[in-house]
Amino acid sequence: MPMLEQQIIIVTGAASGLGRAAAIRCATDGARLSLVDVNRAGLDDVKAEVIASCAKADVLTVEADVSSEDQVRAYVEQTVARFGGVDGFFNNAGIEDRQATTQDVDGAFFDRIMAVNARGVLFGMKHVLKVMATQGHGRIVNTASALGIRGAGRQAGYTASKHAIVGLTRNAALEYGALGIGINAIAPGAILTPLVESSLRQVDPHDWQAAASTFVAHNPMRRLGTPDEVASVVAFLLSADAAFVNGAVIPIDGGQSAQ
Ligand code: NAD
Repeated sequence: MPMLEQQIIIVTGAASGLGRAAAIRCATDGARLSLVDVNRAGLDDVKAEVIASCAKADVLTVEADVSSEDQVRAYVEQTVARFGGVDGFFNNAGIEDRQATTQDVDGAFFDRIMAVNARGVLFGMKHVLKVMATQGHGRIVNTASALGIRGAGRQAGYTASKHAIVGLTRNAALEYGALGIGINAIAPGAILTPLVESSLRQVDPHDWQAAASTFVAHNPMRRLGTPDEVASVVAFLLSADAAFVNGAVIPIDGGQSAQ
């Protein structure tokens, strides 16, 4: 039987990058999907891609900003109204910051990145966990980052927000493990998505691939990761095969964090 057969899975940040790849992977593994993003056109494109790769896929799309608790509550309610519950939650939407050192951090942007990355993940868990606690089962994967477990020396706001996600994950895992709910985080290194490409363009506006070569040179596998390589780990963590994995922060980084 496919790994996620008939599982009801919410994916936030589903219109691009890691969320898009996870949506396609989960549908291929048999899941019914609720795809959430601020980008309506992107959601429509990904829904079409999901159905193209898996004709029988059952897909709801919800336009929502994860930094708004009202909109988070609404996407959870719409998912439950359509499918009757939530089995898995890929709590993934996020934004990057400018390549700013600590003394350059802009207050308004710091508040925004914390609102999307940390508050969005927290309120996503809050409202999904109400459903999962009633059901007595569920699995959550929060997207942290390699910069949730170490610093990079140039992205104060992003690093703070991703460390917050690691803390929120470990805290919630301790709270909900006894109810049969597994909550973990992934810590991807540099994965080639639109977000990373735009970040590399900030480092070198004329030649982002030259900027990427710095990452590649410092990676034990000498390359960037792909969204599909993250999606396969997410699908595993959302599945019953990972039933006893709880409170873990899993690097997906070609071994970078082992250095
Ligand atoms: P991406 O920009 O390709 O996709 C992010 C998606 O999130 C977009 O579709 C965007 O519209 C959506 N989004 C942004 N703000 C939102 C909001 N307020 N509400 C709802 N949706 C919103 O980026 P990605 O690389 O796929 O990143 C996905 C997640 O992975 C992020 O949390 C990011 O920090 C994390 N991450 C990425 C990498 C990487 O190398 N790509 C590494 C570590 C962590």
